[in-house]
Amino acid sequence: MNEHETPVPVTVIGLGAMGKALAATFLAAGHPTTVWNRSQSKADSLVAGGAMRAATIIEAVTASPLVVACLLDYPVLHEILDPAGDALAGRTLMNLTNGTPDQARETAVWAAQRGAGYLDGGIMAVPPMIGQPEARVLYSGSRHVFDQYEHTLNRLSAAMYVGADPGLASLYDLALLSAMYGQFAGASHALALVGTEKADLTEFAASLLAPWLTATTVALPLLAQGNGTSTQAVEESVSPPDMQAVAIANIVTASNAQNVDKALLSHLAIPLRDLIGQSAHDRDLAGMVDLIKKPTE
Ligand code: NDP
Repeated sequence: MNEHETPVPVTVIGLGAMGKALAATFLAAGHPTTVWNRSQSKADSLVAGGAMRAATIIEAVTASPLVVACLLDYPVLHEILDPAGDALAGRTLMNLTNGTPDQARETAVWAAQRGAGYLDGGIMAVPPMIGQPEARVLYSGSRHVFDQYEHTLNRLSAAMYVGADPGLASLYDLALLSAMYGQFAGASHALALVGTEKADLTEFAASLLAPWLTATTVALPLLAQGNGTSTQAVEESVSPPDMQAVAIANIVTASNAQNVDKALLSHLAIPLRDLIGQSAHDRDLAGMVDLIKKPTE
């Protein structure tokens, strides 16, 4: 079937907040869409909109050449799909469930043992963004499978292939999430600190915090450049770690004085302290990237 001419039939397994958005987007784009969920009532609105409800997991898997799974985690994925046995043979499993790179690699092997193609995906979007240009989904695994279904995948988001190792999409996904959670942690601490005084938090967030976070992204290329180059001298540091360590210590002291728990930020003091006096001393926070990587055995 040429996926550019005829919308490919798709099965969506898992109709939580995200799975429902995926299924609705496929449906709206004209794909014959079969759905399955443990709690069957979550399929009702999709079925009313034209989706087909599968009564069993085997019926769901055999309904379409492309089977999209979006479940809570990998143990749930296997609990649901293991009993489907060989029904996946000759089909493609596109797994958008959040997990670790090792879980993705193991599941790629598991799928291959059942004669199925496999793509692992990391969704960098919230459900209302699915189908919108700003959504992005990262994919890794078989390049052939990605090319075969790229047009269909682009229904959901800008589809981005990141490599043949099935674990790469989840590695990138978790890396991006770790950056997001770090940013949320810092922003929460900032709001808690300012909130100890009579301040307009909404105004602070809009006029100072958000522009500040945007402005600080200029430092990201510097962090990336420092990564893996610890033996190279870098010309000159504009924000040496000694200075940064003082700032972190002051944040901790001020937080204690303002009765704000320092847990979200004080962990930064340890690698910063370790950075001071190292050969990477003059390399800014970039040195921290190397510093937290443990040696491989
Ligand atoms: P939900 O909690 O809304 O849905 C979880 C899904 O897993 C439901 O289909 C639920 O079925 C099913 N499930 C959970 N436990 C079991 C079980 N023991 N047996 C059978 N089915 C089970 O989560 P989301 O839809 O939001 O997330 C799904 C995936 O999408 C996750 O991996 C998440 O990381 C990823 N994602 C979500 C984003 C979001 O903003 N929501 C953003 C990016 C990625 P039931 O309805 O019966 O409970």
